[in-house]
Amino acid sequence: MTNVPLLLESSFQPSASTEYRELVQPATGQPYAKVPMATLAELDRAVESARQAQQSWRDVALPERARLMMRYATILKDQLAALTELVALETGKVHADARGDVWRGIEVVEHAASVAQLMMGETVENVARGIDTYSIVQPMGVFLGITPFNFPAMIPLWMFPLAIACGNGFVLKPSEQVPQTAIRLAELFMEAGCPPGLLQVVHGGAKQVDHLLQHPQIVGVSFVGSVPVGQHVYRTASAAMKRVQCMAGAKNHMVVMPDAAPAQAINALVGAACGAAGQRCMAISVAVLVGQASNLLEPIRAAMSALKPGLWNDAHADLGPLISAQAKSRILALIEHGRQEGARCLLDGSAVTVPGYESGHWLGPTLFTDVRPEMRLYQEEIFGPVLLCLQAESLDEAIELVNANPYGNGCSIFTSSGASARHFQNRIQVGQVGINVPIPVPLPFFSFTGWRKSFYGDLHAYGKQAVRFFTETKTVTARWFEEDAQVIGPNTSITLK
Ligand code: NAD
Repeated sequence: MTNVPLLLESSFQPSASTEYRELVQPATGQPYAKVPMATLAELDRAVESARQAQQSWRDVALPERARLMMRYATILKDQLAALTELVALETGKVHADARGDVWRGIEVVEHAASVAQLMMGETVENVARGIDTYSIVQPMGVFLGITPFNFPAMIPLWMFPLAIACGNGFVLKPSEQVPQTAIRLAELFMEAGCPPGLLQVVHGGAKQVDHLLQHPQIVGVSFVGSVPVGQHVYRTASAAMKRVQCMAGAKNHMVVMPDAAPAQAINALVGAACGAAGQRCMAISVAVLVGQASNLLEPIRAAMSALKPGLWNDAHADLGPLISAQAKSRILALIEHGRQEGARCLLDGSAVTVPGYESGHWLGPTLFTDVRPEMRLYQEEIFGPVLLCLQAESLDEAIELVNANPYGNGCSIFTSSGASARHFQNRIQVGQVGINVPIPVPLPFFSFTGWRKSFYGDLHAYGKQAVRFFTETKTVTARWFEEDAQVIGPNTSITLK
């Protein structure tokens, strides 16, 4: 069984740790590799190596840093098929979902190649006679990235290319459930010409994260994962006086108005709820059917029951398995709890399996109605192909329901009324809003944010704002030439009329 290496100092090498975690292929349930829980000494060496490499990297000319990103984007595109296969194997995602995971990451690398524009400061001449003020945007040192299992390519690529393009060093601690994609991304980054030491990849869980969060040489922490861990990371890193941003969990709603195009709304809803087995932070997990839209319940059930779970390389499969047996047990318990609380299960995927792969972590599409907001099923993030349907009498009642939910990551409305869509856009308190679009993930030149429990921190994590997170602005006020003052002289002030 292979051991996943660390990228430590300037080489890929086995960990000296005696503590390992087995990696299990989600579709087959078979163990296939082991990931080490890095020793604390290895973590310290990783941070020190990134710190040293950053000392000279920060002075490398911006066009040169941009060229590294261009070369990296080209290599990633050349390797798209192989990376897709790796993501699919690690996560069980079907090919279309795995390819999307890699591709959305490549778009961030392309964005990072615009680093010169992104790091531009501002200038004002003559704030006082002969004195100018301007701001310069500078790298800060070594950043730490902690990433979740569900997008093993895209989310690490949200972080280290931008941080490094800005002139920083980076220590990546990927999810211990999907560490191989991160290592492959790092190998390709080295191939693109990343200077040795600048990027480090270490593995581990809570103990390793806690050590890094306290490390005096880490200047900032970017985290993506669940709410409880995000809250812990936010508290711990900010108590250690780090700059910190945490993108956390979600419970995303789709409001379906009675005037929505029915086939479009149903297709979008079912795909957004069950695609990637519901393991997307932007998955739709609640449908709010307004007024007569409640007639869509039966067609929604029918469309969900037609979805086919299957292996990553099955071109006819609509969704893959859950990431782990623990994730499946947790969701099965929530489904059972929902029934006990009085929600009505119209479609139960608990017993669904794929012939020949019965040990995989399968869960078929599952649909609940008669769900009330106080139920655990509604309050907690499920993170599987489970859709809850609620009803509302009016658009305002639907908006009130969404705004009262503890999470605020994404949402959407399906309607043919411009007035309803605009009212929704204006009143909804959620980070990403879709209008007749089910999963409104913005491209990297926009910000990605979250309201309430879905985001902690004061600078937004992804895209446009990320450069502000990975840099510090310095404002300089300067009198450059003493002669200016003499040429003009103290008594030559212009008299304003
Ligand atoms: P997770 O919170 O379990 O793990 C995330 C990371 O934190 C991993 O690297 C893990 O090793 C580490 N970690 C786990 N327990 C820890 C602890 N006690 N202390 C310190 N570190 C710890 O999340 P996950 O299950 O890997 O990913 C799914 C979650 O991520 C979902 O909640 C999903 O909504 C969220 N997510 C959010 C976004 C977003 O943009 N808001 C994007 C993707 C995923």
